[in-house]
Amino acid sequence: MLEIVQIPVLQDNYVYLIHCAETGDTAVVDPAVAEPVVAALEARGWTLNHIFNTHHHFDHVGANRELKAKYGLKITGPAADRDRIPGIDIAVGDGDQVWLGDEAATVYDVPGHTTGHIAYHFGASQALFCGDTLFALGCGRLFEGTPDQMWQSLGKLMRLPDETQVYCAHEYTLANARFAVTVEPHNKALLARMDDIRAMREHGEPTVPSTLGIEKATNPFLRPMSEDIQETVGLLGAPLPAVFAEVRRRKDDF
Ligand code: ZN
Ligand code: FE
Repeated sequence: MLEIVQIPVLQDNYVYLIHCAETGDTAVVDPAVAEPVVAALEARGWTLNHIFNTHHHFDHVGANRELKAKYGLKITGPAADRDRIPGIDIAVGDGDQVWLGDEAATVYDVPGHTTGHIAYHFGASQALFCGDTLFALGCGRLFEGTPDQMWQSLGKLMRLPDETQVYCAHEYTLANARFAVTVEPHNKALLARMDDIRAMREHGEPTVPSTLGIEKATNPFLRPMSEDIQETVGLLGAPLPAVFAEVRRRKDDF
């Protein structure tokens, strides 16, 4: 079983430490900045062996070189984007396995937010590190990919078990919730979650991780099959990728 530490950095980013108690190996996922990562490691007496990057944006790779110089670690990142990942050592893609101590993650190509975005799924620990692809009640903006690509990428993640913990890279949940209730106003699970999220944020608590089951029940970007959503966006009975594209477009303008 892996131990996971959530480190809030910058405005609203989450960086994660993953630690294998058996072997002592430790990875950091998407280190935006070095200092809070080093502090969290030193507080636990851990050293760092790996960086796992999900995509090339600066708020995900910003501390790659500094941490590599300090710890002599290996950097794993998307093969499709190897030229844009600073200091990359190991390039991985769809179906590859990545090891942290005695547990393996399966890599998924999830293009959309960027063309080379990947996600890491640790099956035994039921932990998904999905970067800026899937958020609590949201999904990443389509900076480089198409709506069809993103819908396919989200479809891959939706096939993972409902109990999977979704460790996304930003605390965007309250803003996402405000949008979600406008496109699916009759979803009772969503309305209840909105109340929970408000309360958690008022107390300064993180709303991340959530689970895939909760996202499938409430996240509008995973629910183009919802008649409530189809009706709201004026696409009743339309193909799911078209409904997804319209929901994404509306969020961009929200
Ligand atoms: Zn990003
Ligand atoms: Fe980001």
